Amino acid sequence: HGGPQQREFQAETRQLLDLMIHSIYSNKDTFLRELVSNASDALDKLKLEAFRDKDLDVDTSDLHVELEVDAAARTLTVRDNGIGMSRDEVVDLIGTLAKSGTAQMRSALAAAKNAETSAAAEELIGQFGIGFYSSFMVAETVTLVTRKAGEQTATRWESSGEDTYTIEEIDGAPQGTSVTLSLKPAADDELRDYTDERVLRDVVGRYSDFIAWPIRMQVERTRTVGEGDDATEETTLEAETLNSMKALWTRPRDEVTDEEYRDFYRHVSHAWDEPLEIVPMKAEGTFEYQALLFIPSVAPFDLFMQGGRTGVSLYVRRVFIMDDCEELVPSYLRFVKGVVDAADLSLNVSREILQQDRQIGAIRRRLTKKVLATVKTMQRDEPEKYRTFWTQFGRALKEGLVSDTDNRDAILAVSSFESTAGEEPTTLAQYVERMKPGQDTIYYVTGESRRQLEASPHMEAFTAKGLEVLLLTDPVDEMWVDGVPEFDGKSFRSIAKGELDLDDADSDEAKSERDERNKSFEDFLTWARGVLGETVRDVKVSTRLTSSPAVLVGDAFSMTPALERLYRASGQ
Ligand code: ADP
Ligand code: MG
Repeated sequence: HGGPQQREFQAETRQLLDLMIHSIYSNKDTFLRELVSNASDALDKLKLEAFRDKDLDVDTSDLHVELEVDAAARTLTVRDNGIGMSRDEVVDLIGTLAKSGTAQMRSALAAAKNAETSAAAEELIGQFGIGFYSSFMVAETVTLVTRKAGEQTATRWESSGEDTYTIEEIDGAPQGTSVTLSLKPAADDELRDYTDERVLRDVVGRYSDFIAWPIRMQVERTRTVGEGDDATEETTLEAETLNSMKALWTRPRDEVTDEEYRDFYRHVSHAWDEPLEIVPMKAEGTFEYQALLFIPSVAPFDLFMQGGRTGVSLYVRRVFIMDDCEELVPSYLRFVKGVVDAADLSLNVSREILQQDRQIGAIRRRLTKKVLATVKTMQRDEPEKYRTFWTQFGRALKEGLVSDTDNRDAILAVSSFESTAGEEPTTLAQYVERMKPGQDTIYYVTGESRRQLEASPHMEAFTAKGLEVLLLTDPVDEMWVDGVPEFDGKSFRSIAKGELDLDDADSDEAKSERDERNKSFEDFLTWARGVLGETVRDVKVSTRLTSSPAVLVGDAFSMTPALERLYRASGQ
């Protein structure tokens, strides 16, 4: 096998590890949740793989997670007999950070490097869901030994979290994965003793109780043997299961604590934030299923990136089928996390089948309606929470105005927009309430920033007349605003396009006044048309300006300047 090979971590990974090692993140216990969570995922995957591939030579009769401590050596091992990893997968696992090595991630890491406060590190750790690397919060050295189901050779990976790691092929390892932590010195006041049975019991109970596989540990049991004067104490080691293994989505909501929900959320979402909203669902009848959904409180950094984690996990009668099942929620709700447990699907179900499946289609429609209804209730009853929601996910949700015409009205109803009426975003219903008598149109303008739009000459007549204008500054606004015909019977109208009849333009008086004005400017208009030539379609006298001398206006049916920019940028 050629002995251990030394390799260097990528720059981003190194920064992250550095952060982990020196982190004053207060909640170091969570490393165990991450390792147990990975072990549980690996057991799920093996069970499914063994079911699908009957030739796979594996023993699935006793799938479990095992904690093993050696107090003298100060090591803690988390072992599973799950799917394991190939050598390439181990290398890839180390490389996962590189995949998301975006400008965002890099700058966040750079900023955190100088972060002195635990809050800043905590935020970063929370935002990126550190997973496996969190071991380095408590360990001096981490050794991972893994053998993939169906393969002979195992891989041993070891690192102290500094610049390098070693990787080597070995023989004779059991199938599955073991992660051994050489714990930092016991003298470290900040750290609890993770070789202490009581500490492990406490941490597993707190963060991993719902894990569906047994998490076992050898514990010392002391018994009294014999009677009276002959009685002696006998100590034996026994395997004990530390978790209750109850699937959370099958338990009634009032029997589950918020902490249990939170920890489950963190397990399924691979995130570390608090859920903003917990949405349990249950359907009986033709299509039976249970679901437990979460709306996070912090948007993942990859919400608008290709290949980001999307969708919820699919189970069939408690058996894990897949992560990130995109068929279960529309793309504009990709931030929703959780599980769907369907009763009547085949365990063999594939992505291709899912796309056609009527039951999945029905579940997807129900989930969508339920999530939108939840946001609506939040908006009505908990405005503060709704604001958080909108800041984090509004931009994604608005994509649904283009892609999901069935739910367009529901999405419009829970959307908020910047407006000239005030600093706080407004709903369309609030806009309609403030409309002037006789106003039958919702006015908007699109552009890059609120400040730019407020200073636009298009705004002058509206400011002068006290008419409210929505200031739409997200790229997605360009996409929906042309396609959505109306809200509450009021059409949308760009203030940068077409003729503006803000006055009673049809009265005879107005007409003759306009003719007169046009006539008096006739010479100027002819001159201007001559000078500007092909670059404009026409030059007209306008009533829409109060202080600017001129403004560029599009046809009523032309693209807005911002949409033109968008198309030009995408090379169309
Ligand atoms: P995440 O769990 O969010 O993907 P982690 O850093 O926790 O991120 O783990 C990275 C990847 O390493 C996992 O997605 C999985 O593919 C692999 N992995 C980690 N631990 C195990 C394990 N015990 N068995 C098999 N694969 C594992
Ligand atoms: Mg993980």
